[in-house]
Amino acid sequence: MSEYARITVTLTQPVAAGRNARADFRQETHNHVPGSVLRGALAAAWIRRRGREVTQLPEFLETFEGAGSFGPLHSEASLPVPLSVKRHKYAASENCRSEWDAAYDEHATTCDECEDPLVFSKGQARGRVPLETRTTTALTAEGVARDGHLFTQSMLKEQARLSGWLHGPATRALFCGDEPIHTLSFGSRRSLRGSVTLAVDTTAEPDPVECVGQDVILRLAAPAAFCDDFGFPADQPDLRELSDVLGVEALEVVGAWTRWDEVGGWHAASGLPKPVERAVAAGSTYRIRCAEAPSPEARRTLAARGIGLRRREGFGALYVAPPRPEAHT
Ligand SMILES: [Zn+2]
Repeated sequence: MSEYARITVTLTQPVAAGRNARADFRQETHNHVPGSVLRGALAAAWIRRRGREVTQLPEFLETFEGAGSFGPLHSEASLPVPLSVKRHKYAASENCRSEWDAAYDEHATTCDECEDPLVFSKGQARGRVPLETRTTTALTAEGVARDGHLFTQSMLKEQARLSGWLHGPATRALFCGDEPIHTLSFGSRRSLRGSVTLAVDTTAEPDPVECVGQDVILRLAAPAAFCDDFGFPADQPDLRELSDVLGVEALEVVGAWTRWDEVGGWHAASGLPKPVERAVAAGSTYRIRCAEAPSPEARRTLAARGIGLRRREGFGALYVAPPRPEAHT
């Protein structure tokens, strides 16, 4: 098995990957499938086939609790616009350029063509992800909606295709025993839907993280958890970790376009919300100066592996911005 695996899921039912529950019982949905949800679904597939005892085996612990990474599953439209990117504040004309990227030293404040002001991205999705809305309920014996069980939920539509990467020991999650896993359920008791089919490509290679001269550009596809030497949350990656993975010394963060995010979730077993934690938001972008340009192989590894802590829970996944007309490489 290779160091990384690309997986593509096709939704055979609508999928709701819930965000933090809201007080008005309207469930927000992610426009993608977070790595934590993918990891949970693969672990559930193992337990379904081999029983709960499997969770005690070293094989299970290395795969699901080890040093691997479970990245998020995205469509092209759901990836965030990097926070380093400026766009028109108002509608652009046909002749206007669409994006300026401060990570590439593009610091315009107005459009050359229409002179409209430019504003930094807030990390919104790059395109429009088609969603549908459904209301579901659970009834009591008296036939009334049980308290807290009436939800209006937006869901990713059937037939949507989403892709992402697993890295390191996490790639073993795709095989239970020697049997490949072909279907998964992203549903929970709270959604009752969410079947997908799974295609695995172990020959695909991730695009290497972007490199300009001796600098690399890192863009977060998922929230990231970094900490300083005292264990407090930090808003910048650990240069020692980057040096290890890149095989060259990472010297300095020369550009950072970041926001904080709050990451919570729902603990299905207890039916309670998980504690909300501080993380660097998806879309955050860093430009890191290295002692020399890292090799494309090392940059591919970093792209699939991600950065920071809790990568097995989907934190710190990276993505590479789509190629631009200016052809930066
Ligand atoms: Zn313009």
